[in-house]
Amino acid sequence: MGLPQAEGKGALHIGVVGAGTMGRGIVQLFAQAGHAVSCFDEKPDAGPQGLAAVFSTLESLVAKGRLASGALDDIRRRAKCCTSLGDLAECDVIIEAVVEDIAVKRGLFARLEAIVSDKCVLATNTSSLIVAEIASACRHPERVAGLHFFNPVPLMKVAEVIAAVRTDPSIVATLRAIVEGAGHKAVVVSDQPGFLVNHAGRGLYTEGLRIVEEQVASPSEVDDVLRDGLGFRMGPFELLDLTGLDVSSRVMTSIYEQFQQEPRFRPSSLVPPRVAAGLYGRKTGEGWYRYENGQRVEPARKSIPSLPSRLSVWIDPDAPDFDALAALVRNAAAKQRSHASEAEVCLVQPVGEDATSAAIRLGLEPAKCVAIDPITPFARRRTMMLTVTTASAVRDAAHALLASDGVPVTVIGDSVGFIAQRVIATIVNIAANIAQRAIAEVEDLEAAVRVGLGYPFGPLHWGDRIGAAKILQILNGQMRTTGDPRYRPSPWIARRAALGVSLLTPEASR
Ligand code: NAD
Repeated sequence: MGLPQAEGKGALHIGVVGAGTMGRGIVQLFAQAGHAVSCFDEKPDAGPQGLAAVFSTLESLVAKGRLASGALDDIRRRAKCCTSLGDLAECDVIIEAVVEDIAVKRGLFARLEAIVSDKCVLATNTSSLIVAEIASACRHPERVAGLHFFNPVPLMKVAEVIAAVRTDPSIVATLRAIVEGAGHKAVVVSDQPGFLVNHAGRGLYTEGLRIVEEQVASPSEVDDVLRDGLGFRMGPFELLDLTGLDVSSRVMTSIYEQFQQEPRFRPSSLVPPRVAAGLYGRKTGEGWYRYENGQRVEPARKSIPSLPSRLSVWIDPDAPDFDALAALVRNAAAKQRSHASEAEVCLVQPVGEDATSAAIRLGLEPAKCVAIDPITPFARRRTMMLTVTTASAVRDAAHALLASDGVPVTVIGDSVGFIAQRVIATIVNIAANIAQRAIAEVEDLEAAVRVGLGYPFGPLHWGDRIGAAKILQILNGQMRTTGDPRYRPSPWIARRAALGVSLLTPEASR
């Protein structure tokens, strides 16, 4: 078997160790980018099977007209399997994608270093181990970095280049260049738990679980609001069911422990009993949802009550959706009152405050009061929050009114920040702390979250859209009400809110 041939300027000889899910994707990405790729797996069949799978994917691209058949012939020449680790001796870069086990990875890196030249770059695709711990198995830890891809590698167009404590900047530059040369966005991250994407993605799960823990809403209600209302591709509970709670639970615990029990990442006590019961999600047929023949069984949604024939409503003049609410009242032939005392239903739209506190602050009767989230776009989905004593007739009348133009409504229990405000403020707060700690550049953070997590906006930009002062208000409101330090606002937000500048504003250079 001859060595594969690199083609074109800047083409390198790249070795990939491990031909599983990730190794295959990495082989495809770099072979398509013009590099020579040699792939080794300790299981003799795994390498050839992995390569066959790559070629079969590429053949289907040729059939769809998305890849020239000549290009596939070239890739076949460039990508080869090898039968021993020693065959990787000539590689310029080696990317390890073997089992997530520190002892296996350290052993492999020590063996690789004895085989390759002094100039060879060694990279690990680990998702959760400390890169420095792998690097320290080598005589030259400065040549080792993390190169964390996402599944499926060719389609998830971002990779994290992890600079461990001893990694030489030239190694980071080389990895960044080959990633960007292959058409992916490279983001440089320091060797911190969850790196960038998995760190920034924590808030969706921790706050979603917390909302369910507090009985504010059910898992499907949380998912509905975040997916349909805010534009997440999936809500946290749908995502947990997809990844498997057994896997996600380990990630949640490991990130919390690696951050020295930082309260922002504290896992939920709801999870271990569900893992113990085998409620992993899709793969076991039941998780937060039930699945039949691979299809999710939709939980019953609350039915919409009928609109009372006579209804009088007061809308807080400070409500951001005042005009849209007034239009609903008009179209439903209800009466809008200018004094709350004359109305049967009072509508308020607080930020960073629960419905009960808003009613008391405004001097309203809490039994007549319903709060509507002002953050979720009014035309997409409406979240309606009750005070502790909202009367059931008031709840039903408000629900009927809010649903009267066909927009879906979610009814939740009292909570500072509804669902949307809580989750967004948590995500922004975690991102702000990533920026504050310079774990990554602001621009890389924003791009990695959009591409890696598929969020509609980068987290700090999202915070700006809502307003830094409001994000601060939500976090302070939660902090005051619960006393839980997980809600303490990052100084990054507090300072930018005080100055009235964008959350994307970097620190002054020192
Ligand atoms: P996988 O189980 O699909 O494949 C691992 C392959 O490595 C197997 O073919 C196995 O035979 C081989 N292998 C194990 N030990 C070896 C050794 N000592 N030498 C050579 N080959 C060896 O695993 P995967 O999902 O591709 O994950 C690989 C790495 O990528 C892990 O570190 C994982 O944490 C990380 N990762 C996985 C994902 C994902 O979504 N699957 C995403 C990002 C990162």
